[in-house]
Amino acid sequence: MIILENVTKEYTSGTPALNGIDLRIEKGEFVFVVGNSGSGKSTLIKLLLKELDATSGKIYVNKKYLNKITRKRLPSLRRDIGVVFQDFRLLPDRNVYDNIAFAMKVVEAPSRIIRGRVLAMLSMVGLLDKYKSFPNELSGGEQQRVAIARALVNEPSILLCDEPTGNLDPENSWEIMKILDEINKRGTTVLVVTHNMEIVQAMKKRTITMNNGKIISDVEKGGYFYED
Ligand code: ADP
Ligand code: ADP
Repeated sequence: MIILENVTKEYTSGTPALNGIDLRIEKGEFVFVVGNSGSGKSTLIKLLLKELDATSGKIYVNKKYLNKITRKRLPSLRRDIGVVFQDFRLLPDRNVYDNIAFAMKVVEAPSRIIRGRVLAMLSMVGLLDKYKSFPNELSGGEQQRVAIARALVNEPSILLCDEPTGNLDPENSWEIMKILDEINKRGTTVLVVTHNMEIVQAMKKRTITMNNGKIISDVEKGGYFYED
């Protein structure tokens, strides 16, 4: 599903942001990625989306060899990866329904299937009653749930979350993590970058710890080895 072989990323000459990363994530896994600020977590996500190219090493996502993927095939790679950010990134001038439907229109989904899919996603995140609301009328937790619905509406096989609870209080953070867990149980591979150690400890998922561009630990059931 996701394979990195000896991947290094240097932005400028000097210390690499990622330094010889070997990583294998199977289909259907739930993985936390933790580590100090600057340890390379965002860089990893950008490489998986091919927003950046590795300086050396090999990356495969869903059997696509990213080093060689053509511009033309980039949309097909990105359609298969949903992304959720710390700051939600909803369209402020569109309501909840349209924020989610927009993601399907962009990939030219037939209009007859859009409505059903959008409503199914809203139901999954518990926001059916808010479909007409605008982002600024929603709490942070609700906005993040809309962002998750949007990320999943095209049925990607992988969901990447970059600090999805970074702007949320503990209660909303737990709500988001429960939804991510449920999404994973339905078959989506979920990778979550987070600083929320209480949640990482409690959820007992595979946890990868990064430091200075390297993976310093990779454990099966939660646990981490760094202090911010
Ligand atoms: P994290 O997400 O764990 O905070 P990043 O992947 O953002 O880490 O950063 C890893 C390292 O790469 C840091 O030293 C950071 O300063 C550096 N870095 C990140 N993005 C850039 C960039 N666009 N140009 C130069 N250096 C960068
Ligand atoms: P995060 O909060 O996800 O760890 P950062 O705060 O590290 O992200 O980085 C925010 C943005 O700034 C990213 O797009 C990253 O690529 C860029 N960036 C980070 N470090 C540097 C750097 N040293 N030089 C240039 N851009 C950087």
